[in-house]
Amino acid sequence: MTDLTRMTATDLAGLVASGETSAVEVTRAHLDRIAAVDDRVHAFLHVDTEGALAAARAVDERRAAGEQLGPLAGVPVAVKDVLTTKGVPTTVGSKILEGWRPPYDATIVQRLRAAGTVMLGKTNMDEFAMGSSTEYSAYGPTHNPWDTDRIPGGSGGGSAAALAAYEAPLAIGSDTGGSIRQPGAVTGTVGAKPTYGGTSRYGLVAFSSSLDTPGPCARTVLDAALLHQVIGGHDPRDSTSIPQPVPDVVAAAKLGATGDLTGVKLGIVREFTGEGAEPGVMAAFRESVDTLAKLGAEIVEVSCPHFRYALPAYYLIAPSECSSNLARFDGVRFGLRVGDDGNRSLEEVMSLTREAGFGAEVKRRIMVGTYALSSGYYDAYYGQAQKVRTLITRDFTSAFEQVDALISPTTPFVAFPIGARTADPYQMYLADLFTIPTNLYGGPGISVPCGLSEGLPVGLQVMAPTMADDRMYRVAAALESVVGTFTPPAL
Ligand code: GLN
Repeated sequence: MTDLTRMTATDLAGLVASGETSAVEVTRAHLDRIAAVDDRVHAFLHVDTEGALAAARAVDERRAAGEQLGPLAGVPVAVKDVLTTKGVPTTVGSKILEGWRPPYDATIVQRLRAAGTVMLGKTNMDEFAMGSSTEYSAYGPTHNPWDTDRIPGGSGGGSAAALAAYEAPLAIGSDTGGSIRQPGAVTGTVGAKPTYGGTSRYGLVAFSSSLDTPGPCARTVLDAALLHQVIGGHDPRDSTSIPQPVPDVVAAAKLGATGDLTGVKLGIVREFTGEGAEPGVMAAFRESVDTLAKLGAEIVEVSCPHFRYALPAYYLIAPSECSSNLARFDGVRFGLRVGDDGNRSLEEVMSLTREAGFGAEVKRRIMVGTYALSSGYYDAYYGQAQKVRTLITRDFTSAFEQVDALISPTTPFVAFPIGARTADPYQMYLADLFTIPTNLYGGPGISVPCGLSEGLPVGLQVMAPTMADDRMYRVAAALESVVGTFTPPAL
C-alpha cells in the first residue's frame, strides 16, 4: 500500500474527499511516522495525538454525512509554536512560557480548524523566533533530516524539518527576517512569506510587530499555495491586516506548473554579488537562472543600492520592537514565575523571572533594542534604521517598475553543522542576508528548492511586489516543474 506520509497535501485531500482513505488513517500514518523518527529529528515540541485524531474523526463524520469538504480537509498540519492554540501548550521555544496553555486560538489556527485540516502538534523554534538554526530553542535543537548533525535553519526549523522528514505534509511558520524561507531552503522544502498584513498576526506571539508575517510551508509549491489560501485574508482582529482578498495564489501555482514563463520579466539584484555566499550555492542559483530563461522568462539586472544596509537596519528595528513586545513577560501574567516567596518585591520577582526565563540571544536583543530606543540614541540608531527602511522600500518600488519579480539565492550557505555559528552572533545573522530586505519592505517572498551543493539543498528566492503574492508562486512552480521536489537520504 502507498505510504501516506510521502504524498502531497493535494493528493491526500483528494483521497479523503473520494473516500479512498479516511482522515483518521492519514492522521495515524503521520503520528506513527513522528513516533518512528522524531527522537532523531526533534521537529515537535508537543504532539497533540488526541486532538489530531478527534479532528480527523470529525472530518470523516462530515464526509459520511455528505457535507462538502474544503480543499485541505483531512490533511495534517504542523504548527510553529509561535501561534496560540487553545488548551494546547504554546512556548515560543522559551522557558518563560513553559506550561502555558492559551485560552484562545490564533486566527490562523482557527482557519486551519475551520478548513478541516488536522493539527498534529507544535513545532520547535528558536526562542521567540530569534535565530537561524533552531539552536536557540530552550528545548534543544532540531536536526536536519538531510544530515542530523546539521541545522534545519531557523527560527522555524521544526516546521521545515517536519516536512522534510515526512512527519507532516503541511506546516505553518512565521517570517520576521527569513524564518520561513531560510529553513525551507536548507531542508529542500518550500516556504512562503506572504505580503505583510496578508496573513493575520492575531495570536502570533509578537517578536517584531512591523515585520512578523505568518505563512505556509510545504513540500510543493501548489501545496503551499493551497495552505496560503486557507490561512490568508483580512482579519478585523489584526489592525495591520490588509482588507483585501488573497491574490489567487492557487491559480498562479497551477499556471506556473505548465512551465511557461513567456512574458515574465525577472530581475537579479546587482548588489547581491555573491560575496559572502558559498560558491556551490551561487552555482546552483546561476543554473536555475538559466532554467528560468529557458522557460521563457526575460532576465535582467536591476540595482537596489540600499540592500547592503538591510542587515544592520534590521538588527536595530527588530531588537527595538522586541524590547518593547517582550516587556509583557514579567512573571505576573503568563507562564514562569521565579522567587515569589512572599518576601520579595514585585520588581525582584520580575527580574528573577526574566533572568531565568529568557535565553542569551533574547536578552542580547532586549538590551540592544532598549539601547537603540533610549533618548539620546534614538535618532542615531532606531531613527536612522527607519530611514534606511524607507530607502530599501524605494529600491523595491523602482525595481518593480522594471521587472515583475526579483530572484536571488534564499540563503548564502547550505545547512551548517550544529554548533558552527553559535559562538559569534554575527555569523548567525548572516544567514538572512538575502531574505531581510523583503521583510523591511513588506512584500512577499518564497523559497523553492533549486539544486544541491555538497549533497545539501539550495533554495531560490522569488520576491514580488506587495499584494502580488501570486507572481512569486507562478515563478516558483515553473522552476519546480523542471527541478522537481527534493527527498533527503533515508533517515
Ligand atoms: N534570523 C532572523 C533573526 O534572528 C530572522 C528570524 C525570523 O524571521 N523570525 O531575527
